[in-house]
Amino acid sequence: MQDRSASWTGIARVGRRLRRPEALAFLPAISLLAYWLGGEMHLVLVALGLPLIYAVAGTFEEGETAGLRDRLDELALRPQVIAALDAVLADGGAGRTTGCLVLQFDEMEKLLDRHGRAAQTEVLARSGERLCAALREGDVVARLEGGGFAVALHPVRRLDLESMIQLAARLQAAVAAPISLDGVRLYVTCSIGFCLAARSPAPRGRAMLDAAQVAADEAQRNGPGAVRAYAPEMARKRADRDALRELLEVALDGGQIVPWFQPQICSRTGSVSGFEALARWQHPGRGLIPPSEFLSAIEEAGLSERLGEVMLYQALTALRQWDREGFSVPSVGVNFSVAELRNPRLVERLKWELDRFELAPSRLSIEILETVVAEGASDVVVHNIAGLGALGCGIDLDDFGTGHASITTIRRFALRRLKIDRSFVTRADEDRDQQTMLAAIISMAERLGLETLAEGVETPGERAMLAQLGCGHLQGFGIARPMPFAEAVTWLQSQGTRQVSAVRRGSRGI
Ligand code: C2E
Ligand code: CA
Ligand code: CA
Repeated sequence: MQDRSASWTGIARVGRRLRRPEALAFLPAISLLAYWLGGEMHLVLVALGLPLIYAVAGTFEEGETAGLRDRLDELALRPQVIAALDAVLADGGAGRTTGCLVLQFDEMEKLLDRHGRAAQTEVLARSGERLCAALREGDVVARLEGGGFAVALHPVRRLDLESMIQLAARLQAAVAAPISLDGVRLYVTCSIGFCLAARSPAPRGRAMLDAAQVAADEAQRNGPGAVRAYAPEMARKRADRDALRELLEVALDGGQIVPWFQPQICSRTGSVSGFEALARWQHPGRGLIPPSEFLSAIEEAGLSERLGEVMLYQALTALRQWDREGFSVPSVGVNFSVAELRNPRLVERLKWELDRFELAPSRLSIEILETVVAEGASDVVVHNIAGLGALGCGIDLDDFGTGHASITTIRRFALRRLKIDRSFVTRADEDRDQQTMLAAIISMAERLGLETLAEGVETPGERAMLAQLGCGHLQGFGIARPMPFAEAVTWLQSQGTRQVSAVRRGSRGI
């Protein structure tokens, strides 16, 4: 079976090569042969006819893309890997064994975002070639639907963990060499999972390939550039993760994940300048779960956008309710994840939501982590942030001071406010170094025309120092802890914001 699949691949490969333009290099020799055998008439027919046939068959017209696609098409597919593995596993291997590897690219989404689909095709084609070159004749290399590769090793007498790890490292090195495309050097890394025949959960090719895939997923979670051997616990862990995903979906759809609200105040007047919406999971059995315990699970499950929708909807609902009850709450802040910022329809969606709630875009503060903009945000992310700014939403740079954003980056985005990270605020009243850093950040913000908000203000001393240093807004346990919507209403009442709001509403004629 192995032999049959190998010869099938071989014939297909020769056929595809003959369809390539390079095959015309043989034209002079073929023409000469035709002249020899049949005279001048045959020479003319062959010399003119062959190029015509190639052209009509469309070999030349597709250009570079077709070339890349051809190179990818030369590789085997999933069924051939399974067949090759089955051939060894089925009869107990007859003293021979094999191994299966699955290779997945790290951060392929980022590459796609930054350089587009052509770059992705180029990377896949080149990597495919390099993998074939790094492996031995008889090893089957297949491309997988998800954009990775699978390898079934040619049967050997002995294969151990150590040699598989070395082989995986060799394949990673082959893929890691830079790829030039339109004058840009692309660098990619990959994570690899593998399964030895002796460790396969069942003596079947499909089971072995699935096991290598599970190991590759585990490697990717620990990546970039990780290698993992299949172990039975991995499958169990995956089942647990699937169950958690289902639980999270139910939680998001069933209203178990809700925003708690933490006030932000003006440092000069003490008036409320807004609330930040912070996610909480009200678990029916486990009680209240903070975001630190479920955000990464949401991200891994690909549910970040769903969380964003839920939070935005509830935050805007709260803002409308405060308006209706006559409180003056200028804005509500919502945290946006990278996954949400990658959605090309984000601005459109937000505009629609704000229209639906009849709220001015300036009432929404979009909190974006400094790390997100600092690490070279993709085109879509940059476009979205600019679009949200142009729409009139306030853009707040969250955890400022921890993400190393350059001044150029800060100026590039139409930011409204820097949210100074808690690490600069703690003990600001006693620590001169903290004061120096805060003064530098605040004066830089002033020069750049940006407002400032200090996060994690816990003590009256810190609060007084920040006000003295000229920080515009304050947020932290020292003002109030995050609280559910109903409590936020009581807190607003205790602040006496309703009267202020009534006056303002009257003067603006709303
Ligand atoms: P963050 O955006 O920096 O939010 C501020 C965090 O600091 C909150 O933690 C808040 O409870 C806490 N905090 C506020 N004042 C003080 C203080 O005076 N002292 C101390 N020690 N901590 C204070 P929380 O609610 O646990 O949220 C943690 C992080 O989870 C948030 O950090 C934010 O990055 C993320 N997060 C929360 N909700 C969402 C969400 O809906 N979407 C996304 N993408 N991320 C969220
Ligand atoms: Ca935040
Ligand atoms: Ca923060």
